[in-house]
Amino acid sequence: MTAPCLFPPGSTVGLMGSGQLGRMFAIAARRMGYRVHVFSPEKDTPAGQLADVEVTAAYEDQAAVEAFAARLDVLTFEFENIPVRSIDWAAGHCVVRPAGFVLHTCQHRLREKQFLKNAGIPVADFHPVSDQAGLDAALDAIGAPSVLKTAAFGYDGKGQRKISSPAEADSIDIHGPSVLERFVPFEKEISVLVARGLDGETSTFPVCENTHRNHILDLTIAPASIAPAVDQSARALACTIAERLDLVGLLAVEMFLLPDSTLLVNELAPRPHNSGHYTFDACVTSQFEQQLRAICGLALGSTELLRPAAMANLLGDLWKHGEPDWLAAAAFPSVKIHLYGKTGPRPGRKMGHLTALADNTDSAAAMVREARASLIGKPRA
Ligand code: AMP
Repeated sequence: MTAPCLFPPGSTVGLMGSGQLGRMFAIAARRMGYRVHVFSPEKDTPAGQLADVEVTAAYEDQAAVEAFAARLDVLTFEFENIPVRSIDWAAGHCVVRPAGFVLHTCQHRLREKQFLKNAGIPVADFHPVSDQAGLDAALDAIGAPSVLKTAAFGYDGKGQRKISSPAEADSIDIHGPSVLERFVPFEKEISVLVARGLDGETSTFPVCENTHRNHILDLTIAPASIAPAVDQSARALACTIAERLDLVGLLAVEMFLLPDSTLLVNELAPRPHNSGHYTFDACVTSQFEQQLRAICGLALGSTELLRPAAMANLLGDLWKHGEPDWLAAAAFPSVKIHLYGKTGPRPGRKMGHLTALADNTDSAAAMVREARASLIGKPRA
């Protein structure tokens, strides 16, 4: 058996994808003295602006992927819709963490749900759908209301449709492999970030509570307002999933909390997650540093919450009437402004976020909402 590869500060880490998650990863990595190279099909990207090296090429360009990987010690990714083939090409030239199997599982809803079910993790009842006849069969099995989701490339509710009654099935076109899932009348949506190191040690961040608007995360508060037993179960589920995936890296686990305190796992993301942005300002170690520590084989950092926090996303909609009033938000001394360096604000596009720290989550949530509303000179929304 060969010794596991450890990559101390000064090593070169690479990232597939170069959006805001990569940007915050690059900030954490460069702060610790790592060299950061990023790869994506775009130029002047949120992560590229902060990286040592920004490579612009298609994920399907084998020569470019191999040349990129040859300059790295370790490679990771900031979103899961990277072709597994690209990761396999890279793995011939550098260490890749998490392993391609994790990406393969998590980039396809059906594979992910089957993996969770086989691992004994509670999920909403689901049924695969590949064509119109399949949808009828799935509705027979699952019933309505239910949610039809495309198996691949879905995020922020994209490729998702609620079906309120079986009669609606005829008006629905199936776009590729899909999953029909029972609609869950959840009380809350929560998420747990878990890191797992090379030695198999796991560490969870404080469980957080998420509110969505139009299927996009709007607000996260941490810690979640849940019973201690639910908190423990949520963390235990996340650790079990990380172990069953044999994860080396970071994993976000989105869950539904039902009124009877049952938890159902909705979705996995083997990378930092929007709901974990609060950790950047509110925890001893951010989710981005933890991802770095895990993939480099360092000891995991403390996930202690320094203060209750609330995070509000800033979507492109805020730019509707021109540049938001940054000076107004900056006037809140306990609010941190994060902007991702994106040009071209579009409705629904994540442009940045605000995090407020306070004595309790209610105050933090009120403050972050007020700061966000001040950007467009409105009463808080
Ligand atoms: P997803 O893309 O699976 O993360 O779904 C986006 C959002 O849609 C979730 O955060 C929920 O608010 C909602 N959603 C997804 N699946 C279900 C479901 N089975 N029942 C109720 N709401 C759902």
